[in-house]
This record gives sequence, structure tokens and C-alpha cells, in this order.
Amino acid sequence: MIRELTIPTPEQACLVDITGQIVQTVQTSGVSDGTAFLYVPHTTCSLTIQENADPGVPHDLLLVLRRLVLRRDPEYRHVEDNSAAHLQASLMGCSHVVFVAGGRLVLGRWQAIFLAEFDGPRTRRVLVKVVPDHP
Ligand code: ZN
Repeated sequence: MIRELTIPTPEQACLVDITGQIVQTVQTSGVSDGTAFLYVPHTTCSLTIQENADPGVPHDLLLVLRRLVLRRDPEYRHVEDNSAAHLQASLMGCSHVVFVAGGRLVLGRWQAIFLAEFDGPRTRRVLVKVVPDHP
């Protein structure tokens, strides 16, 4: 069973902490031990796991991605004028795997799950599939 979250993103580029929604989704799945597969069915946003204690970390990540990828380039061929968002999303990836143990996500102390938006504001979908170790 694939569960779906709806995540509004407030800015053109931002990281939205969705850890709480993922935790809740895993809990309602009833799976105690297994694997949570997280996936965004989009081409201009991503999923990443990163520190949520210091807001400087998401800031710095977006800063570096802006520096790595030119907003506009005369050699870009994509007709929608959002090539940078596509390229940044590809660099970050559209899925993650998190283990589930004892009904809880196995995350490090400082780890949080973020939806990384590069072409917002929009409403995004996050798909979650929780697979038990022993069906
Ligand atoms: Zn596009």
C-alpha cells in the first residue's frame, strides 16, 4: 500500500521538514520492523536527510546548490525556463530509504527528512511505502 502526503512549499527554493508527517505515516501503517521507502513523483523537488537543529544547514545547502547551478544559461535547452530547478533536483535525488525498528524511524540524533523545493511555491506529493520485514 502506498500512502500519500500532501506538502505545501512556501518559497521558490526551500527545505520543508517533513519528519513528523513521515513518522505519523509509519505509525499508522502498523509496521513495527521493516523499511520505509520515500519518493517524490516530481522533477523539480527532492528528498534529503539532513540536520534540522541549526537552520543554517538548510540555508547553506540551498546556497551551495544555487552556486553550483546557473539560474539561466544560454546553452540550456529546456523551454520552461526552470532548468536550474530540474538540475538541482537531479543532484539531490527523488527517493530515500529509512529503516523502521520498533515502530520508529531509525534516524540519527540530528537527522531530519526534508522535502527540498526548487520550483515553488507549490503543493507537492510525497509517497511512502512501508514494507514489513516479515509479512
Ligand atoms: Zn521544467
